[in-house]
Amino acid sequence: MKCCVVTLGCQMNQSDSERIRSVIEKMGFEMTDVEEEASLIGVVACSVRQKAIDKVYSKIQKWNKWKNEKQLVTFVSGCILPADEVKFLKLFDLVFRMNELPELPTMLYQCGVTTEFSARNPLNDLQREDERTDFWQVDPTYSSNFEAYVPIQNGCDKFCSFCAVPYTRGREVSRASADILNEVQKLIDRDVKSITLLGQNVNSYGLDKKGEEISFANLLRAIGELGKKSGKKFWVYFTSPHPRDMTRDVIEAIADYECLAKQIHLPVQSGDEKLLRRMNRNHNIEDYLTIVSDIRELLPTATIFTDIIVGFSGETDEQLENTAQLMLDVKFNMAYIAKYSPRVGARAARWEDDITPQQKSERLARLTEVLKRTSYEHNEAMIGKTFEVLVEREDPRKAGALATRTEGKLPVRIVDAPSDLVGTFQRVEITSASELSLTGKLV
Ligand code: SF4
Repeated sequence: MKCCVVTLGCQMNQSDSERIRSVIEKMGFEMTDVEEEASLIGVVACSVRQKAIDKVYSKIQKWNKWKNEKQLVTFVSGCILPADEVKFLKLFDLVFRMNELPELPTMLYQCGVTTEFSARNPLNDLQREDERTDFWQVDPTYSSNFEAYVPIQNGCDKFCSFCAVPYTRGREVSRASADILNEVQKLIDRDVKSITLLGQNVNSYGLDKKGEEISFANLLRAIGELGKKSGKKFWVYFTSPHPRDMTRDVIEAIADYECLAKQIHLPVQSGDEKLLRRMNRNHNIEDYLTIVSDIRELLPTATIFTDIIVGFSGETDEQLENTAQLMLDVKFNMAYIAKYSPRVGARAARWEDDITPQQKSERLARLTEVLKRTSYEHNEAMIGKTFEVLVEREDPRKAGALATRTEGKLPVRIVDAPSDLVGTFQRVEITSASELSLTGKLV
């Protein structure tokens, strides 16, 4: 019996899929990437992105047609808005939330899925097994043998006016630090080279369990100690933090441990005070610049990435220019700039989406030019210097080349290098730089 799990979303959805796959494999299914081969097909989607939702509908319509020809059970999970959940219940055999994952074998059994596992384990045993664990304790089937995502927190309490995540994933819940450290230790033992701590608001870690859990800074320190003790080389990242909870002790912790990567992804969304208030971001430009100055002081080699929305409801040309100025002041290495589109469920969806598609495209182009300028200045200064990189894969755009990243997550293409270096650290000398990438040779 084969199962196919399709992921349509962000790193969090990918991490959810890894845990779903693991539960299904334990039931006796063989995993496949070919939908046509599967008798159990699921989709893990982000219901806040309209594109992902459109794809879910087109997939389930196709799969439901297949049911005329073969036995097929379908399920959907991930970040699902309550309104979509109601519609999905009519189309899928099973809709579940990630915190119900331990109950998946029982739920599938109730949908008529019988496997060797369920034949061996009558329903009562399955239910007992469900009760033993929460979804974070499910060992994932990692999709890479040298990079791994580790969820540390789920949900969000921030309610930014443009975002529907608090309605799809619920309120912030921190995973037990003992579980996180246990998973990180297992990854270190497996010689994983890159670990990314995941959550909607990683740096508000522990705030929902004050007095019972450690802070985010102390979680980073505990991971740093594991790294130190192991004597192994690996890089630990986290995404995404919120500026409101980005305290100096987090940056100090990163400075103190070699394995904590010197790269900070800190979404700012806008460089305009009034727009930040309208976005309900709960931080101002001064707060943001203070964090940046702490990063520059304590982590002088760190790269800084951000997320920006252009064309948010009511955004003026002047407000866009304030964002451009902030970008010039911070000198971001990377900015993921998105054109605003209303998210069903989010507060701003009730406001007029008054910036035309053409204006949004022009604003995106304007900020992309600014990004290219600051990024190129940084990249150009790297020419002739040597850096350690992690080889991620064969370069899909150039035969015989490898796609790698520095500790600061800057992409470096190495030409004429053997493919068996994928998954290893290498030293490269930077030979040329472009606006958003670099080229180097093995040293
Ligand atoms: S954008 Fe705002 S509301 Fe959405 S997940 Fe991030 S902090 Fe939470």
